[in-house]
Amino acid sequence: MKVIKTVEEMQNWSETVQLRGETVGLVPTMGYFHQGHLGLMETAKAMCDHLVVSLFVNPTQFGENEDLDAYPMDLDRDFKLAEEKGASVVFAPQREEIYPAGFQTSVALASLPLHLCGLNRPVHFGGVATVVTKLFNIVRPEVAVFGAKDFQQLQVIRQLVKDLNFNIRIVGNPIVREADGLAMSSRNVYLSPGERASGLSLSRSLELAEGLIKEGEKDAAILRAKVTDLILGFDHTAIDYVTLCDPETLADVDHVTGPVLVALAVKVGTTRLIDNRVIDPAQ
Ligand code: AMP
Repeated sequence: MKVIKTVEEMQNWSETVQLRGETVGLVPTMGYFHQGHLGLMETAKAMCDHLVVSLFVNPTQFGENEDLDAYPMDLDRDFKLAEEKGASVVFAPQREEIYPAGFQTSVALASLPLHLCGLNRPVHFGGVATVVTKLFNIVRPEVAVFGAKDFQQLQVIRQLVKDLNFNIRIVGNPIVREADGLAMSSRNVYLSPGERASGLSLSRSLELAEGLIKEGEKDAAILRAKVTDLILGFDHTAIDYVTLCDPETLADVDHVTGPVLVALAVKVGTTRLIDNRVIDPAQ
């Protein structure tokens, strides 16, 4: 497995393998791998001749007062895990390689970022869309794999690929969870033992919502109130949002009439956790 740090070397590597007729699958990450990341790697590897994992903590998707400088990192462990998953390359550039002096272009979506995480993280999806566009141009993959844990991000990427005519197949992988239901996240290491227990409020409340919707509850306000109560019944929790929305447009719904995305962002202590589930009342 090669560790590549420059844009030029990455582009040359991709061009060389593609001239040989070999396909490339990309898994973009910010590192500190867990089973969620490793699952994406397995999916990409199964679909392509080569797996390329990018590992870049992208500064432009962090707002002020977010955890950019504290973001957990263990490069040697990550390189080992990517190699075990059969990666051909880990692309791990420095910040200046991706954003050299004078950088001034950004990719912005008009409406998807106006929902869910975009409300309290106004710069986030512009940063994601810009860096992913750059990664697509640098790595030139046939396939790119993202996790449904970041549901809104997945929708943003699908939309930008469509809008900007990237010839890349976007694949979404299901959320990988700890045995007790907590969605895996690099940020879970920030949780104290008490906060870790309260992290379960997210998956528990999604189960509650699913049960209620399948029993016939359609009123989004009632569902939101019950989910909110369950979450606030745990210590250390503060709600950023509890939203029921259309899984495609992410626009809020008042009534559940078909598949609905229940999406949550909860601060547990100082750690912001997200989780979601698409619930189909007909199933
Ligand atoms: P990150 O390193 O947190 O930026 O995540 C990199 C990729 O891994 C994104 O596509 C995430 O959606 C995905 N991912 C993170 N956590 C999970 C999880 N628990 N299950 C599935 N995919 C995940």
